[in-house]
This record gives sequence, structure tokens and C-alpha cells, in this order.
Amino acid sequence: MRILLAEDEPELATWLSRALEQTGVLADWVANGRDVLPSLANRRYDALVLDLGLPGMDGRQVLTALRARGDVIPVLVLTARDSLMERVGSLNEGADDFLSKPFDLSELEARLQALLRRASGSVRPRQHCGPLVYDPTSKGFTLHGQPLTLTPREHALLRVLIHHMGEPLSKTEILDRVVSDERDVHPEAIEVMMYRLRKRLVRSGVRVTTLRGLGYVLEPET
Ligand code: CA
Repeated sequence: MRILLAEDEPELATWLSRALEQTGVLADWVANGRDVLPSLANRRYDALVLDLGLPGMDGRQVLTALRARGDVIPVLVLTARDSLMERVGSLNEGADDFLSKPFDLSELEARLQALLRRASGSVRPRQHCGPLVYDPTSKGFTLHGQPLTLTPREHALLRVLIHHMGEPLSKTEILDRVVSDERDVHPEAIEVMMYRLRKRLVRSGVRVTTLRGLGYVLEPET
């Protein structure tokens, strides 16, 4: 999961990003309200965590502009004031949930997960691709009913592919979802990871196909 965090307090933002990363949530951070919409346009995020008190453009203006252009990304609003007016206002403007500062990391995490579950249609079903099954609850893969052993990177890669079945993903799109800090990783690294993953999937009944100019897609072998 990758979220955009719009928060102008550097200490809070840094702490949150690091803490979230420990739980498998990658966070990109912007400190100015004006940077939120361009960042969301540049990259696909699973959710936006939005502080209301932002310089440049405040959180409520950001939210209004975001919904006005038809963006349905789940938004969790952070508010410094536990004010009913503010909550009602931000819900009207299109927030999905809100959290008053100060908050516990565990609460933020639980709210984020709930938001994503709702966004993806309540209960997360198992995902199938031929004989390959991913169980979001146990976070494990099985192949022909047997647990599939993968390295953490291969696991992350395969999870991205099964989440986006039928939709080709470019190297950059995959990299975005698999690696937290791509400054250290070249998109070509995906080729190496893909090579290893394909070796594991040889004659398994499922394969990763390369669609020229579009990217990689996971599909059952026919
Ligand atoms: Ca603030």
C-alpha cells in the first residue's frame, strides 16, 4: 500500500512515514497544500492522509478541489482541533474518515485499513489466477493448494501482479508498489526480480507475460 501524506509538521511527518513503513505502508510526504493535487496526478496512491491546517492551500480546499475533479481516492483527514464543525465540514467536502491529533499510530493504521477495505468493497476476497491463490488475510500464496515460498521481494512483486490481474503494469508502476525508495533502485531491477519470479512459476499453470510497450501482466497458462 502506498499513501500520500500531506502534513506540514516535519517531525510528525517523518515519524509517521517511518512508523507506517514498519507496517508495510509506504508513505510519500508533501508539506504544502499546493503540492497535493500534482502529487496525486503523478502517481497512483491507495489513500490520502490529509492535515487540514496546511500552508499554501488548506486541507478543506484541497479536498473540495480533489472531489470536484472526480477523484475518488479514500481520504483520511487529520485535524488538530477536535471540532464537530470541522468534522462535519470535511465530511461534506468528501472526507471518508477523520482523526484528531494527537492520535496513536495503531489507530491511524486501523482507520487506513478500514478505509481501504471499504474502498475495495468490504471483505477482501481471495484472489485467484489459475492455480495460484492469494489470501489477503494470511498474506500467503498457494499454488495448486501448496504454500508457495517466496523471498520478500518476490512476494511483493507477485502480490502487485495478482492485485492488478488483466491490467499490464510498467516497470515504473511496479517499482512504485514494490520498493519504498526507488532512488536506490533502477527500473531495470524489476527485470531481474521478474526473471527470478518467472523461474519459480515455470510449468505452474500461471505465468507473467510481457506486453510490448505496456508492461507485465499475470495470467493463467492455457
Ligand atoms: Ca498542520
